[in-house]
Amino acid sequence: MTINIDPPTFSDAPFFFDRRAGYLLEPEQEGIVQSHSKTKVAYYHPKDVGNYHYGERHPMRPHRLELTKDLVLGYELQNHMTMHAPRKATEEELGEFHDADYVDFLKRVTPKNAQTLTRDYTKFNVGDDCPVFYDVFSFCQQYAGASLAAARRLAAGSTDIAINWSGGLHHAKKGEASGFCYVNDIVLAILELLRHQPRVLYIDIDIHHGDGVQEAFYLSNRVLTVSFHKYSADFFPGTGNLSETGSDLGKYFSLNVPLQDGIDDESYISLFKSVMEPTITTFRPSSIVLQCGADSLGCDRLGTFNLSIAAHGECVRYIKSFNLPLLVLGGGGYRQSSVARCWAYETGILAGFKLADDLPVTNYTEFFGPDYKLHPPLTGQIQNLNTRQSLERIRVTIREKLRYLNGAPSVQMQEVPPDLMGFLEDERRGKEEREEEEVGNGKAGETRWETELGEGRRTRVNQG
Ligand SMILES: [Zn+2]
Repeated sequence: MTINIDPPTFSDAPFFFDRRAGYLLEPEQEGIVQSHSKTKVAYYHPKDVGNYHYGERHPMRPHRLELTKDLVLGYELQNHMTMHAPRKATEEELGEFHDADYVDFLKRVTPKNAQTLTRDYTKFNVGDDCPVFYDVFSFCQQYAGASLAAARRLAAGSTDIAINWSGGLHHAKKGEASGFCYVNDIVLAILELLRHQPRVLYIDIDIHHGDGVQEAFYLSNRVLTVSFHKYSADFFPGTGNLSETGSDLGKYFSLNVPLQDGIDDESYISLFKSVMEPTITTFRPSSIVLQCGADSLGCDRLGTFNLSIAAHGECVRYIKSFNLPLLVLGGGGYRQSSVARCWAYETGILAGFKLADDLPVTNYTEFFGPDYKLHPPLTGQIQNLNTRQSLERIRVTIREKLRYLNGAPSVQMQEVPPDLMGFLEDERRGKEEREEEEVGNGKAGETRWETELGEGRRTRVNQG
């Protein structure tokens, strides 16, 4: 179906313009002093999500989510946001992206029946990195349910910003687990947003490439993915080269910023802003999904960057300043005390409330010694292998790609979202979903646009 629209972008079509108008209010003031800000912030924390356990020696500790929540409450940020304990995602909802046999496997597998399912272990890539632990399916339903509820609330216009630190599991694929991730809550949330909005921008500041999200939307011009990450052949997942830009309609809609060990605050922030500013003004997203993996912080157990919590948070503040509907998610982060500090600090930024450097007393205070500060000094810095020239080359190459994007079909916009009638139907359903959101036990929208992710459109990105 092709409908000519003038002015020539579908984000300018009246259906969409109304939705956006509420977000294009006055620009944010400099700094983080908006304690009386009108920005609505919704915080999602699935009950007990921090009580799951990947295994004794596994670096991923869901317990970091409890530390984070306790700091957020200790700083009394609940007075500046609405707090939500969302329901679990249903199997049907997970099936909007994931293969049915994979969802079924996750549902059935337990540490006890593992022996009888060894063949499936290989097929679905579970084992060492992605172990089968007690109640793993329930864990997936919890964090995915939170991202979906957050996306529904954003799409309904009931909040300006939604936060789910338990989400952001960016490596999970359509039919397999990867890199500590089983279900890709980010893809599910973006699909939910796409039911209501023409274009979504995905930004990933985890130290690892956001491969699962890039792959899911590699052929789409409705989702632009930008990932800032360490890139080398021997660093997981081995993808995210500067030359990976998307295919077919999605050509130039995947951007990658491959970095080397030891990048520092100044270079990272400068590069981040000089990439994101033209990306946002060129792509003009209806909403932004920001994955805030905290393994890009200095002193992470797996990461090798030198970022401070302040610099990581500056990226969040910068994206917030565009005043677009914003979904903020967690991700990696393998030093629990740093993760909790970072995400509490970023919750403060999003809620418009400046946090004191002295940490509040919580149930987990002993994790934060010996300084008990929000911004402890960074020790054990790693040599910065990024040169001024290498960073400049990245900056110039990305800007060049954005020039192509400017002439790309979806921005000329002869095209409207593939299912306009479905969209209008969804508009009518908005009220019901808002009510569902209030009671928290309904079912998410049943019909989704599937053209972006239909069978056979999945593409593996090139290694290296
Ligand atoms: Zn990571």
